[in-house]
Amino acid sequence: MFVNLDDVPVIKEIDLQAVPKQSKQRFWLHITSDGIGTPLYIPVIIIRGKSDHHIVGITAVVHGNELNGISVVQKLVKNIDPKKLTGTIICVPVSNVPAFLRQQRDFSNGVDLNRIMPGDQWGNESDVYAYRLISKVINEFDYLIDLHTASFGNINSFYVRANMNLPEIVQLAWLQNAQIIVHKESFGTLRYAAERLGIHAITVEIGNPNRFEKQVISNAYDGIINTLICLNMLDGAIHHPEEPAIECESSYWIHTDRGGLLEVFPKLTDFVEKGEVIAQISNIFGDVLETYEAPESGIVVGKRTHPVNPTGGRILHLGLPVT
Ligand SMILES: [Zn+2]
Repeated sequence: MFVNLDDVPVIKEIDLQAVPKQSKQRFWLHITSDGIGTPLYIPVIIIRGKSDHHIVGITAVVHGNELNGISVVQKLVKNIDPKKLTGTIICVPVSNVPAFLRQQRDFSNGVDLNRIMPGDQWGNESDVYAYRLISKVINEFDYLIDLHTASFGNINSFYVRANMNLPEIVQLAWLQNAQIIVHKESFGTLRYAAERLGIHAITVEIGNPNRFEKQVISNAYDGIINTLICLNMLDGAIHHPEEPAIECESSYWIHTDRGGLLEVFPKLTDFVEKGEVIAQISNIFGDVLETYEAPESGIVVGKRTHPVNPTGGRILHLGLPVT
């Protein structure tokens, strides 16, 4: 049966041939249902160009409170003229609908959807949701740009996570004009699962959760336009950044070993030297209990801003630049 929600058709699978060339179409994709049997729909927008070529997928909100990607998708859908496009763009402005509705990072059963990809057809509710997201939507793509932000209580630079051992991915990563590129394989993520399907995939970290931030939205948009130009899907000149990205061969979070109020000193994208004091912890009476030093020299990819710090809390995401 075919129903319409606000005149947007409901589909169970993506059928690209049903979308006329040189058109933009919106869909509600029925992915799973809740306990009373009401369907859960994922919004999907397909922009089909004048001829078939690559299929580029843009996904946002795999973590339910990471919202900047929604605006990036809306900007793309508004600005791209399908008559001037070669190939197809498939946009998913909200990938993790149950988490988005709860205004939280994780799926409705408390699971991080971006740690269990590609899911399991016969698993629990988050496993099935992940499996169907991959099999019904992501599987259609040749390229994937997955848009994220920092998690609650942390801030991020504008950076790309990518498997820099793969040449096509190296090019994709550099096209985003990010401040930092971090090499990561990241088992269990949407990006990793897409790579296993032969899809060229990167993750772009754009700003902070629970808000729309104009500047990073615009930066991420420019990176996607660069990508479309480079893939011969749009005409135009590739926009190069004022400062090239700092490429890191690895990165990791530095954690605390005691609880208290945390203050982290360096700013995003600062270079820190091995041994430099990067943070301190005070007790609730204001006495400094401990200072922390950078274990090696590197660049600040992200940092904790929330001062309440249990033992083992995050301090700083340190990137180790390629030498
Ligand atoms: Zn995320």
